[in-house]
Amino acid sequence: MTAYERSKIILRFADLLERHNDEIAALETWDNGKPFEQSAQTEVPMTTRLFRYYAGWADKIQGLTAPADGPYHVQTLHEPIGVAGQIIPWNFPLLMFAWKVGPALACGNTIVLKTAEQTPLSALYVSKLLHEAGLPPGVLNIVSGYGPTAGAALASHMEVDKLAFTGSTTTGKIVLQLAAKSNLKPVTLELGGKSPFIVCEDADVDKAAELAHYALFFNQGQCCCAGSRTFVHESVYDQFVEKANALAMKRVVGDPFKGGIQQGPQIDSEQFEKILKYIRSGVDGGAKLETGGERLGAKGYYIKPTVFTGVKDDMLIAKDEIFGPVQSILKYKDLDEVIQRSNASQYGLAAGVFTHNLDTANTLMRALRVGSVWINCFDVFDAAIPFGGYKQSGQGREKGSYSLSNYLQVKAVVTALKNPAW
Ligand code: NAD
Repeated sequence: MTAYERSKIILRFADLLERHNDEIAALETWDNGKPFEQSAQTEVPMTTRLFRYYAGWADKIQGLTAPADGPYHVQTLHEPIGVAGQIIPWNFPLLMFAWKVGPALACGNTIVLKTAEQTPLSALYVSKLLHEAGLPPGVLNIVSGYGPTAGAALASHMEVDKLAFTGSTTTGKIVLQLAAKSNLKPVTLELGGKSPFIVCEDADVDKAAELAHYALFFNQGQCCCAGSRTFVHESVYDQFVEKANALAMKRVVGDPFKGGIQQGPQIDSEQFEKILKYIRSGVDGGAKLETGGERLGAKGYYIKPTVFTGVKDDMLIAKDEIFGPVQSILKYKDLDEVIQRSNASQYGLAAGVFTHNLDTANTLMRALRVGSVWINCFDVFDAAIPFGGYKQSGQGREKGSYSLSNYLQVKAVVTALKNPAW
C-alpha cells in the first residue's frame, strides 16, 4: 500500500472516531470507571487528534543520502520493522491504544495488540472502525487476554519483530527478559513513576494547589506520571496545605456516568486494597492524615480523596507508586535540597515545577532526571510532545516524531559508482 493510502485510511478512521465519540467514551467508562465527561471530552478527542497527527507522518517518512569517502552512492531506506507486538495497561485504554497503533500504522507495520484484562472493550470497538475506514484484514489484531499467558506469548514470540509495553516496572523487566531470551526483539517500555511536583517560594499558592491537586487526583490517581510527591517550600507550606485539603474535601466522587463527577471508582479490588494498605502504612509510619483515608460508602471501589502532610522521604507512601487518590505533601527548604530529594527515586518519568522565577525554572528543568518537565502546567499530552522515562520509568519515547523510530528499520544501501567523477 502506498504511504498516501495509509494516511487516508488513518484520516478516515479519525473521522469515524469523532462520529462515534460518545459511544466510545461510554465503553471506556464502563470498562475503567473514569468519569464519562473525562472520556468524552478529553480522551476520545485526544485519541482522534493523535491519529490525525500520525496520518500526517505516514507520507513523510523517508531515508537520506550520505557522503562516503570512496566511490560509492550511499542511501538509507526507512522500512517498517515488521510485526509489532504491543501490550497496554488499563488506566488509559484508548489513549494507550492510540500511542501504540498510530505510529506503527503510519510506518507501515502490522500489529498484534494485547489489551489489559480489566479493559478490553474500547480497543475492540475502535478496531472495527479502523476496518470500516479501509484497513485490510490482518493488519491490526487485538488479543483480549491475561498478562502471564497472552502477554508473555507475545513478548517471547519468535516472529514478533518489536515489542512496545506500557505497565508496571516489574512486568517491564519480565517482558524485556522474554524478548531477550527469544529473538532479541527491540523493546520500548513505559513504566511507573513517582513524580515530584515542586512548589517554589514565589509560587501563586492558590494556582499551585489547584494544579498539584489535578496532578495527583486526575483519573482516580491512576496515572503513571501522577505528581505523587508534592514538595512545597517551607515559606508557603501552611498556606498550601490549607488549600490542598480544601480541594480534596470538595472533590466530587461517585457514579462516573453522572454529570459533575470528578472521581469514579478505582479499577478493581486488587488496586483498591493496595491503596488502602498504603494509606494504613502512611498512618502507621507517622505521616499526618489530613483528610480522607478510607473507602467511600459500602459499595464499589470508591476511595475518599486523601491528603497526607509531614511526609518523610523514607516512608513507603513517598517511595512507592500508590496509583490511587493519595496526595503526599513534603516540606523543603532550598533548591539544591529539593533537586537532590526529587532525583532520589528509582523512577524518572515526569516532574511539575511551579515558579515564576526564570532562573529557578531553568535550573530545575536541567537538574531533574525525568523524561518530562511541566512548568506552571501539568499533564500536557499533545500528540507532538514526546513522552517516556529516565531510570526505571522506561526505555524509549512515544508520541511525536520520536515514536516513528520505534517502528522503523534503517537499511543502508551502498552502490559502487562506475564513474566516480559523477
Ligand atoms: P501490569 O504491568 O501487570 O499490566 C500491564 C499490562 O501487562 C497488562 O496488559 C497485563 O496483562 C500485561 N502483563 C502482565 N503480566 C505480564 C507478563 N508476565 N507478560 C506480559 N504481559 C504481562 O500492571 P497492572 O497490574 O495493570 O497494574 C499494576 C501497576 O502497574 C500499577 O499499580 C502501576 O504501578 C503500574 N501501571 C503503570 C502504568 C503506566 O502507564 N506506566 C499503567 C498501568 C499500571
